Amino acid sequence: MLVLKFGGTSVGSIESMTNVKNIINDGQRKVVVLSAMSGTTNALLTIADCIKFKEIENALEQISELHQNYKLTVSQLIHHNELRSEVDTYINSIFDMLKASVNVNYTTFLSNKIVAQGELLSTFIFSRFLKQEGLNVCLLPALEFMRIDKFNEPDNFYIRQNFNRIINELPNADIYITQGFICLDADGHIANLQRGGSDYTATIIGAALHAEEVQIWTDIDGFHNNDPRFVPETHAISNLCFDEAAELAYFGAKILHPQTVIPVRDLDIPVRLKNTNSPSDHGTLITNQVHGEGIKAIAAKDGITAIKIKSARMLLAHGFLKKVFEIFEKYETSIDMITTSEIAISLTIDDTKNLNEIVAELEKFALVEVDSFRTIVCLVGNHIVYHPDTPKLFQILQDVNVRMISYGGSSNNISLLINTGDKIETLRKLNRYVFDLVPA
Ligand code: ASP
Ligand code: MG
Repeated sequence: MLVLKFGGTSVGSIESMTNVKNIINDGQRKVVVLSAMSGTTNALLTIADCIKFKEIENALEQISELHQNYKLTVSQLIHHNELRSEVDTYINSIFDMLKASVNVNYTTFLSNKIVAQGELLSTFIFSRFLKQEGLNVCLLPALEFMRIDKFNEPDNFYIRQNFNRIINELPNADIYITQGFICLDADGHIANLQRGGSDYTATIIGAALHAEEVQIWTDIDGFHNNDPRFVPETHAISNLCFDEAAELAYFGAKILHPQTVIPVRDLDIPVRLKNTNSPSDHGTLITNQVHGEGIKAIAAKDGITAIKIKSARMLLAHGFLKKVFEIFEKYETSIDMITTSEIAISLTIDDTKNLNEIVAELEKFALVEVDSFRTIVCLVGNHIVYHPDTPKLFQILQDVNVRMISYGGSSNNISLLINTGDKIETLRKLNRYVFDLVPA
């Protein structure tokens, strides 16, 4: 069986839904994971925020605007009378629930419930659309099998048992549609796999049913060798290994949720990135196989904060790093890059929720400097650290204002910390140099 995931833009309009229908209607049995229609998750988050800040009128306005959009989409998409009234009833019940929630006390549970409606809407509408078009489709409610544990990790045993049970109870469908992103938490409340989490849903399901392949369909043709938003001459990479894809996804390549490859890596289930606008293109194939040599791709991750921690007493002292790391551990803040000298340690974080508390604790035994608006530029490729061309990289770095560099931590990754304001120039310079598009 195949698992195919389609993102928000693929179910954002009638044309794109028809396009997806044509892609999946090839006679093969498959699971189709859908995101919310584009813009919906953001709109629902705004509604939840309005409720949080008691902007009731504003919340109601936003809800009614979103409702109108859905009514319009459905009126253009579903002509079959019975299916139409089924969809109308479903949509109205969701929007009634949203309207009622403006008077409920705000909690994270309420916000998660509101945000989950995006995927519930898109899958309901799309499954009825496919029925109208004569496809043998069945809607699987993700909340009946997708669950995370108390560490927010997928509860794989539970997911495998329940997913396979549900699918075995419905053996006659050709296409199983389900919601990406949403799940239950360990206490049974509606939760989610974080923004962009539908990709992760697809590989979690792929692992649960030992799928032949997981396909992530978006509106670009795969992982690019540099960020196409900032660098003009980029191209799709045909093959990546799981480690390279994981590094790129984590360090800013927006195309994939950072955890996507984890569930399928050990099972060696390939992940293929495909473009809905040109379905016959190869896209990017991610497997255990290593292809090519040298630097393969460059990505950038914004919103990084650098913290320099300096101790006069670090000289020849031991236990300093332990003290520092314990504070980050206490505030559950993960560290991305780290460099040390004999008297100082510099590190970066992207989650600044507990920054003030962390700094206060560090200042009890060290001098602390905090710099925000930093970007990590990451160069990825198989064993690049050992590649003979890589040291030449240092030649170009004289033109770039590098704040920190991490070389050798992983043989597939070199990371540079720069000012966010220098990002575009850095990406372009590196592109020219590394990929030889124009002589540097
Ligand atoms: N709808 C969710 C989001 O916008 C999940 C996803 O699209 O993958 O983040
Ligand atoms: Mg996405």
